[in-house]
Amino acid sequence: MLFKRSNTAEAERLESEILDVLDCLVVVVRGEDCNILYLNTAAQDFLIREQRGFASCRNGCAALFSDLCKKCANRNGDSADASEQFEICDDFGRPYAVTSRGISWLDGKPATLLLLEDIQERRNIEKRLYNLAYLDQLTLMPNRIKLREDYDKINKRGNLLGTIAMFDMDNFKAVNDTYGHNTGDVMIRRLTDHLNQLPAFSGHLYRLGGDEFVLLYAEEEGRLKTEEDFRRYYGRILRGAFHSYTMPHIDLSCTISMGVAFFPQHGTVLSELLRKADIALYKAKNAGRNQLVFFEDRYDTAKKFEDYYISIRPLLTTGGKTFAYELMESSRKDGGKDLSLGDYDRAVDSLGLRDLENNFKYIITHSNKLDCKAVLNNLPRDKFVIQMGFGQSITPEELEACKRLNSYGYSLMIDGLRDDEWTDELLKVADYFKFAPGLSEKARFQIIYKTPGKTFIATEVNTQEAWENARKAGFTLFQGSYFSQPSVVRKEKDVSPLKANYLRLIRLTSTDDYVDFAKITQVISSDVALSYKLLKLLNSAAVGLRNRMSSIPMAVSYLGEESLKKWIALLALRGVAGDKPLELIRMSLIRAQFGELLVPQMNPPRVDKYVFLTGMFSLLHIALDMTVEQLMEEIPMAEAIRLSLTTKEGVYSDLIEFFSHYEYANWDEVTKFSEANGLNSDVIYNAYISALNWYNDLAGI
Ligand code: GH3
Ligand code: MG
Repeated sequence: MLFKRSNTAEAERLESEILDVLDCLVVVVRGEDCNILYLNTAAQDFLIREQRGFASCRNGCAALFSDLCKKCANRNGDSADASEQFEICDDFGRPYAVTSRGISWLDGKPATLLLLEDIQERRNIEKRLYNLAYLDQLTLMPNRIKLREDYDKINKRGNLLGTIAMFDMDNFKAVNDTYGHNTGDVMIRRLTDHLNQLPAFSGHLYRLGGDEFVLLYAEEEGRLKTEEDFRRYYGRILRGAFHSYTMPHIDLSCTISMGVAFFPQHGTVLSELLRKADIALYKAKNAGRNQLVFFEDRYDTAKKFEDYYISIRPLLTTGGKTFAYELMESSRKDGGKDLSLGDYDRAVDSLGLRDLENNFKYIITHSNKLDCKAVLNNLPRDKFVIQMGFGQSITPEELEACKRLNSYGYSLMIDGLRDDEWTDELLKVADYFKFAPGLSEKARFQIIYKTPGKTFIATEVNTQEAWENARKAGFTLFQGSYFSQPSVVRKEKDVSPLKANYLRLIRLTSTDDYVDFAKITQVISSDVALSYKLLKLLNSAAVGLRNRMSSIPMAVSYLGEESLKKWIALLALRGVAGDKPLELIRMSLIRAQFGELLVPQMNPPRVDKYVFLTGMFSLLHIALDMTVEQLMEEIPMAEAIRLSLTTKEGVYSDLIEFFSHYEYANWDEVTKFSEANGLNSDVIYNAYISALNWYNDLAGI
């Protein structure tokens, strides 16, 4: 309505009043000479201040803004329907946003309306916001958010090659601790100032936080073609950088370590590239710092998880005790064909087999690499059972391999026994058998009963029914999720009086309130076996105390209440599920310890004692044949734990899922969790191995 033709004086007055109150300069011009028809007060003041005339815009506003005429809708003196929006600067560089539009003026004839808005202040605010959002405030270097945006742009262009080089100062914390935080700050600023002057870094350097930086390098033509090129390039830069911030009075070796991932070779998603560069950086740190490591697939623990077979599936006896662990993940695509002796060695170490006297057997899948003298002579024969799987039909060579392994003294497990012409031969050479899926029940029955002395393993025992059927059919070993899945909650049972003390202890130690050690002592001393077990546990290698403990008050003063609570709860857990499959207890305790070891590295942070209890209780109800809710009634727990165990919405619910993904070797999910929680995959791997060893230390107590 504003610029519609109007004949009334009232409307004219109103319109010019409105134009007058606008904060910007308003100019209305007409014709080739840009004669000024109207100026609002702001525009008049501006021209007076700048000592310009009011007759024509050409020697008025346009004289002050050199680009105005070029972009104005009235540039040819005819602006009928033209409209432009653009930005210009005045002769002092002050920015203005301009709208130039053809209008019908108050007299009904065409004219051009110019609105010039001073946007200096808006620019300043935008710049401040940009700085806050995208720049690290100490060094004014771009931050992680900017890195993500820049990388996205590069990624959209597609055909670029490049690197994500992550680097971190060595022993920087010690510099802070010894020479003060200010010195540390100066060093960081000197380093970034120096790197920013180098063409290779300028605009490509990002501070991720602390003493950690990323250099993003991308090009269409691979100028740096080989790893050697990169090594030389970065090596030179890092040496120069080191000198830039070295100060004479600092005698700590604050060098730089770098990890590099390549794109697209190692991925195209930034989070994946950062993870891989971080793995390489971690390697560089572990290898003594002050060096450059290029990522290699074999460093990737998410992949390594599979290679080390630390996903172990238990084989249980009829009584529910663990008989063996199967080390091979059945979903492995390559069937373990590329495994080296080193891999087996790692597996043996991972499981603490070298130091441990236990009765379990370990089942590994046959592979070409395994089938060589060096390996076979090195694996403990009494510990390892070699599992053989065949294609549609067994070849004479495969049977030969079975005999050869036998001659080395290994027990064999046949995966997929069929009722065919090879059956008798296989029954002679092997001790353990799993049946092929298609084999009828009758055929199984016949084979099991005609060959006493051999052991048959029922797989996929996931329900109570499957478990009972398998037992009736003569199977003596069982594999499946029946023992660790809460899917079948069996008949509710009363807790036996023997277990009551254990339950009472769990209740007393799982509380978040004041721990009543007098009461705990009373419960423990009322049961001789329990007292003995607790002292044995407290004096074990797993607890790691140098002084011998002879009483609970003594243990409180040496271990602290929190820690003692944990050990008592753990002991009670072992007791409470006494006649249940030990596997469940093993898993609960490993979960508890595994989780607790991860806590210091987790971001966002979690409470370690809650993580321990959550892990421990996540399987307890199954051991007790209860629902989680029934267990919660028996043992009231902190709300965070209760919610996490009973719903998927608790603070620790994701952790429970993570444990189960880890146990079932769902590496993709494991990797997702590790990324969401700021965990390095090496950290997870090492924590799991520590938890296994810790449990092994506890075994037998
Ligand atoms: P490493 O050799 O393994 O890299 O160990 P480090 O001592 O360098 O320690 P790390 O990289 O793990 O941790 C970085 C340290 O940097 C932690 C913190 O004390 C310090 N830090 C983080 N941000 C700043 C900062 O803005 N200024 C200063 N002066 N120190 C910082
Ligand atoms: Mg550092």
